[in-house]
Amino acid sequence: MGKSFDIGLERLTGIGVPGDGQPQEGGVKPPLQDGDGAVSASLEEKTRTLKGAGCGTHTSEGATFYLETFGCQMNDHDSEKVAGVLLARGYRQVDGPEAAKVILYNTCSIREKAAQKVFSRLGELRPVEATELRWIEESKLGLGKSANLEIGVPRAEDAEQRSGGVRTRRLQSAGKIIGVLGCVAQQEGEGIFERAPWVSLVCGSASYRKLPQLIAELEAGNRRVTGLDTDTDETFETEITRRDNPFRAYLTIIEGCDKACSYCVVPFTRGPERSRASASILEEVRQLAEAGYSEVQLLGQTVNSYADPSARKMRFSELLAAVAEVRGIRRVRFTTSHPRDFGKDIVEAIDAHPTICDQVHLPVQSGSTAVLRAMARTYTREEYLEKIALLKAARRPISISTDVIVGFPGETEKDFEETLSLLDEVQYDNVFAFKYSPRPNTPSLKMADAIPEEEKGRRLAILMDRQREIQRVRNEKLVGEMFEVLVDGKSRRENPSGVRASQWSGHTSSNRVVNFTSPEQELLGDYVQVKVTKAMPHSLVGEMVGRG
Ligand code: SAM
Ligand code: SF4
Repeated sequence: MGKSFDIGLERLTGIGVPGDGQPQEGGVKPPLQDGDGAVSASLEEKTRTLKGAGCGTHTSEGATFYLETFGCQMNDHDSEKVAGVLLARGYRQVDGPEAAKVILYNTCSIREKAAQKVFSRLGELRPVEATELRWIEESKLGLGKSANLEIGVPRAEDAEQRSGGVRTRRLQSAGKIIGVLGCVAQQEGEGIFERAPWVSLVCGSASYRKLPQLIAELEAGNRRVTGLDTDTDETFETEITRRDNPFRAYLTIIEGCDKACSYCVVPFTRGPERSRASASILEEVRQLAEAGYSEVQLLGQTVNSYADPSARKMRFSELLAAVAEVRGIRRVRFTTSHPRDFGKDIVEAIDAHPTICDQVHLPVQSGSTAVLRAMARTYTREEYLEKIALLKAARRPISISTDVIVGFPGETEKDFEETLSLLDEVQYDNVFAFKYSPRPNTPSLKMADAIPEEEKGRRLAILMDRQREIQRVRNEKLVGEMFEVLVDGKSRRENPSGVRASQWSGHTSSNRVVNFTSPEQELLGDYVQVKVTKAMPHSLVGEMVGRG
């Protein structure tokens, strides 16, 4: 996976994958790890350390699984937990579906494109039918046109064309367990078996606790299993999370969502809000610190709506403070915050604890109160700006990012202008902008005055240009400043200056990406001081001046 150097249009850079983390056209998904060998080495180390109890249940020794994740950081983290469950059963993870006994897709349905991707993956795994096998084999043997004509199946050249690059995958999928997890699973349910009968497991994220049982049923010979309940008060806690990112550990503290934004599938696909007990969260943070993690990120669709189910009844801001005080933890992040539940106490916790990062992701969606009302966002433009004022009044500068949807049904040119003026007013450091995508079951699906795709695209491009310029100007002002950077990437590229120095990259507390050079041989996972020498809209360039 690549590093966050300057990237494409819709997805402005930043590792903190606010929102759903789904890359848009021309963008890349922010990295969770560097592809560099040295990073993989430390990943391997941490992975081993964090495999916890429960690993003793080796019921499938030798079996292999392939797990591909679509969507947001929460999905990435769910996949870490799913991988942990399978590893504990004795499975081994492999890099491609060809070598896997179990193939799992952890899916996202937040926008139509994300959902489509999964069905195209499933299409690649469709088992080859007998007649099809015959013409593929014949075409391989060079029997050609006449042979195919005789048996009444497509000509050899068609066979080659149709089988093309996907033939190998399709041929090898027979006899494998294929599963769909996550939001598409929840949304489509058993309908997936109809669309892709070769799928044997369909499980939504609210039922992941059942996964070990479902997998055991498949291993015992059951043909099809499902986990589709959303009316559960459980959270998917597991001590056997297999963490992919060696520098930043993710922890879900609240699952599901009780808000009812009129465009959003999350309340349907992830179920109602369920918070995890504060003691359990703090225990995991302590374990992570002992395992060597210094940065943790608390996750939730509306992380700040956290409601401690235990007798302790910790508020979100109290939990933040308690996590920040865990020995060994140097950075605490949290995403995504809902404006309605964002209060002064959170800013006070940031002020009081330097270990809580100076970064807040506060999705606005639109700068127009009329559109916000149609979206059922539960706040007006003015109320949102009051939250921003709280952040701007903090004792240290806090980097603010947001999500915006353009082209919501009925969004007028004037509404759109109000969103642009909000960007000017707030001066975000990062914006994740999306074209409105109509989703099944959502109230906005039936709303009048749909905006044509072309117009959505036009608005998106204008918004991205405006924000790029804001970021360019803001970042320019940082030239000459010093930042503490947690180094999480080493570039394979040669240092262009010809000096024997490596190129490194990392993140500041404000989640800015900084690329810098240093003659040091090993810096991954270290905190260093970097002086900014150059600024770009989506990243900074600097030189290391000392250790952190
Ligand atoms: N819970 C977070 C909040 O309230 O802001 C956001 C979580 S949502 C999974 C991530 C982002 O996806 C949203 O902030 C929104 O901008 C975008 N999104 C959600 N539904 C969408 C839709 N139907 N079309 C386009 N973008 C959508
Ligand atoms: Fe979706 Fe709204 Fe819930 Fe965010 S708060 S997950 S946008 S319903």
